[in-house]
Amino acid sequence: MSESGKKALEEFMQGLRKRNPHQDEFHQAVEEVATSVIGFYLDHDQWRKAQILERLTEADRIISFRVSWETDDGDIRAARAWRVQFSNALGPYKGGLRFHPDVSESVLKFLGFEQVFKNSLTGLPMGGAKGGANFNPKGKSDREVMRFCQSLMTELHRHIGENVDVPAGDIGVGSREISFMFGQYMRLENRWAGVLTGKGSAFGGSAVRKEATGYGCVYFCEQVLEEIGEGLEGKAIAISGSGNVALYSAEKALQKKAKVLTMSDSDGFIFAKDGLTPEQLEFIKDLKEVRRGRIREVSDKFPEVVFHKGEKPWRVDCEIAMPCATQNEIDSDSAEALIKNGVSVVCEGANMPTNAKAAELFREADVVHAPGKASNAGGVAVSGLEMSQNSMRTSWSREQVDGRLQEIMRHMHSRCVDYGKKDGKVNYIDGANIAAFQKVGEALLAYGVV
Ligand code: NDP
Repeated sequence: MSESGKKALEEFMQGLRKRNPHQDEFHQAVEEVATSVIGFYLDHDQWRKAQILERLTEADRIISFRVSWETDDGDIRAARAWRVQFSNALGPYKGGLRFHPDVSESVLKFLGFEQVFKNSLTGLPMGGAKGGANFNPKGKSDREVMRFCQSLMTELHRHIGENVDVPAGDIGVGSREISFMFGQYMRLENRWAGVLTGKGSAFGGSAVRKEATGYGCVYFCEQVLEEIGEGLEGKAIAISGSGNVALYSAEKALQKKAKVLTMSDSDGFIFAKDGLTPEQLEFIKDLKEVRRGRIREVSDKFPEVVFHKGEKPWRVDCEIAMPCATQNEIDSDSAEALIKNGVSVVCEGANMPTNAKAAELFREADVVHAPGKASNAGGVAVSGLEMSQNSMRTSWSREQVDGRLQEIMRHMHSRCVDYGKKDGKVNYIDGANIAAFQKVGEALLAYGVV
């Protein structure tokens, strides 16, 4: 980067940190984008005069509210919830809801900001948002989760709508939670509207939505490999997480004849030295999606699969790493171990799973690094298709939706290549950021001062 670029970036980041104190995740997400786009920004007077970067790093609005609910024992609890409506420049606000004790305004601002760029890259007309609550669904009964979801929707319903803001799932929010919230929305509004995505197929959900983020991540990874003249078959993959994204990344990877060596949860990781079998993966899906159990139970059933308590899966020998759990799960120590053990591609299923130092190490070691805003965009892309189907009062077949998903992932990959290829190598982080920024920025320029 030029000296003037470095100086402008530092000044911009100083201002952002001052305006948003103590919001480390948000600073990290903005710095990554700003680093990629600052050169373009400095070269375009009109963009600077219109303060596009400054405007795009300020959320349109942030709604914060209390969610009161009652436990099965009759105790009263209060949680804090937010909806960060970041930008609707390209379409209705769109992005998931997360239920996790670590949820904070900073986490949701980083996720909402990322979502603006991710949604822009899909090519579908969607703005970016994120929401959630510091509520921990783990260990709660179905009835407790229902009461929480109903209470949350009692406030949230005022702020969303099929042409306004369409939330979806994320960590801790799957089809059970979406169904509870959707039921309450209809009760409050007295109408059916496609106001949430990830719904059950009996009431407006799209085929392949559940699988879309994981499948999309593997489709993107295939494109990345093709670009360097390789394929997925036989590749050793380390996957983290065992939730929605991890399960369906693993499923598609197995279908493509790759070897899935690891999966994890917050207790530790499991290691299958020859790769998980389809039978083992089916067991894990049932364990996680139906019985809501812990990953260590896999080695009780299959002793050849070893459980490593309290550890992350980044010390195993692998060619591809697919972090699919949470933000900043790959730090510099993990990155060093991965590089030492031969990783050549990191394809992010989670949002911002790699911290800034680890990303730098990957860049220096020539590891191809696909950022979540491109590689995990399959989920929101199929959510966009669910919105279209709901508006048209129709539903498309699995083959149709999966075909569109593959097409969208290919399109996003080629946009990353178009904007990120330099001297024969693709920098996917720059490619994704620059392509997405230019599209949202052009919309803001066209709208004038809004
Ligand atoms: P789930 O809640 O289904 O699964 C999350 C998984 O990650 C669980 O295995 C969980 O383990 C683990 N995990 C979560 N937090 C931590 C933590 N702090 N430390 C260690 N492990 C953790 O979530 P999703 O699969 O939906 O989401 C995973 C990631 O993918 C997130 O970054 C999300 O934003 C991103 N994403 C999700 C999309 C979707 O469609 N669902 C779309 C695009 C991105 P445990 O159960 O022990 O907590």
